[in-house]
Amino acid sequence: MPKVSFVIGAAASGKTYYIDQHFAGRDVVILNIYDYQQKAYEESGFKHMDMMPMPVKLRCLMKANDDLLNDIIEKLKQGKEVVAEQTLFKAKRRIAYVDAIRKAVDADIEIYVMCPGEERWQENISLRKLENDRGYIVSTAADIEFPNPAEGFDSIYEVSDDGTKLRMDQPLEKQFLEDARREIAEEKERIEKEDEKTRRQLELLESMKTRPFWHYCEVCGKKEFITDEEAFNSGWDYPPRIGFFGMLGPRTCGSCQMTDTLYWKIQTSGQLPIVMEGDLNDKELVTWRRIKGEPESLLEEEKGQGDPE
Ligand SMILES: [Zn+2]
Repeated sequence: MPKVSFVIGAAASGKTYYIDQHFAGRDVVILNIYDYQQKAYEESGFKHMDMMPMPVKLRCLMKANDDLLNDIIEKLKQGKEVVAEQTLFKAKRRIAYVDAIRKAVDADIEIYVMCPGEERWQENISLRKLENDRGYIVSTAADIEFPNPAEGFDSIYEVSDDGTKLRMDQPLEKQFLEDARREIAEEKERIEKEDEKTRRQLELLESMKTRPFWHYCEVCGKKEFITDEEAFNSGWDYPPRIGFFGMLGPRTCGSCQMTDTLYWKIQTSGQLPIVMEGDLNDKELVTWRRIKGEPESLLEEEKGQGDPE
């Protein structure tokens, strides 16, 4: 029967070395989550990890997890034996993995948990020159939830300085599984919703380059339902060509001056260029709220004062 062996543990806990030793001479496919993460980071387009916003990093980690899982399933379907170096510290992440594998293919699923002694581990950290990250590494290791048979593994092994020992704890109640599965499903739904919202926002922004929308001159009150190109050609200062939607900048027709805008007033106030709504008059407040609500605020015509009902 095809088999997958997960090897999990904190950084510098000896996973790679253990895999080399324990599975030596066996015809196994070795997959490593770090390779998948690296690939996802590269594909994200961010050159430096430090510059990567947290949500992007999270999406990368999720993609790496999904891609690795898909590859494991594919290899198992080919009848191969797979060894996967993973983190999977949380029971719910492992349950999602085991559920997906069980659903796709009939395979043995085992897991090895690296539990090096304090001395050995500190040595590894020094050897790998990870001293600066020591605190972080130790804290992630504390996050490891030891796998429970209820998660669906055929065998669970604890790898310590004394060797590899089968460790099958008392199975947890069914409720534990149900809670984990519900949590995973909710998380997936939440992320899909967020991604959908982002996608729509990007689509809307893209459409603003070509669709007609309301242009309001904050100085003389003129308004026109025109495209970005039409507006630009008749002298409007308006996003997306001039400035950015949602950020304070001049919103003027071709006949009015920037020096009469809210933007100018704030920039030349001699104070920090921050808008305090309490300091604005009614006209400025209307302008400011419209800008904050862009681009949505420009799609439908505003019913302003003096407009015919
Ligand atoms: Zn004007």
